[in-house]
Amino acid sequence: MNSEELLVRLTAIRDRVTVAAEKSGRNGEEVTVIAVTKTHPATTVAHLYGTGVTDLGENRIQEASTKIDELGHDPWRWHLIGSLQSNKAAQAVRMFDVVHSVDTLKLARRLDRVLADDPERGPMRILLQVNVADEASKSGFDLRGPGDGERWERFLGVVREIAALPNLVPCGLMTVAPLVDDPEQVRPCFRALARIRDALREHVPDRDWRELSMGMSNDFEIAVEEGATLVRIGRAILGARS
Ligand SMILES: *Cc1c(COP(=O)(O)O)cnc(C)c1O
Repeated sequence: MNSEELLVRLTAIRDRVTVAAEKSGRNGEEVTVIAVTKTHPATTVAHLYGTGVTDLGENRIQEASTKIDELGHDPWRWHLIGSLQSNKAAQAVRMFDVVHSVDTLKLARRLDRVLADDPERGPMRILLQVNVADEASKSGFDLRGPGDGERWERFLGVVREIAALPNLVPCGLMTVAPLVDDPEQVRPCFRALARIRDALREHVPDRDWRELSMGMSNDFEIAVEEGATLVRIGRAILGARS
């Protein structure tokens, strides 16, 4: 796909984001489109340059590392959207601007520690991944919503510990909704994530929980209607993955 084709697709996506945002009384400019470039070679990703895309999403450290070497780190903002093993935390910190997939206290502590060893890097923005649909296969904190009994209390305890780590800037939540035929079916997941975010604003007010990373190619409009600020879109921009 060349730059012109990509621009056509991106324009259509931005229009759909705007319409979805307006449906719920929001402004489409509050929503950042992250182009998910996993599996696509750097030569393809390079065509995004000049299309207005500023944010790229990758889910594997090794693949992202190769691409960053080829494309350069700047002018992009790199988002890690796939799960991260603690032993790769140092690499992640060097490469990514935002990690969306923090899902244990152990990982958060590890990131905080490697950031402390690299004072020039500065604090790193993170999102906490929540498995709102409670799928056994998904990573993330298992939580259906605020008020989810003991799970909520446990989650809140962990969030408070993460919020106290000096080198991390927790700034919101992320979820991966189940794959369904009708995206309307995942609306409750997005709504639950927004409710958890609202509850964190109340219970952990010393951090800014503004970001909601939710919505992919097949369901981003529903996610935007429910408050997404970051949508992660792969196939609808770059086509099918090999
Ligand atoms: C691959 C991926 C996406 C993008 O999915 P598409 O259906 O191609 O838009 C979004 N989020 C995560 C976590 C992914 O792994």
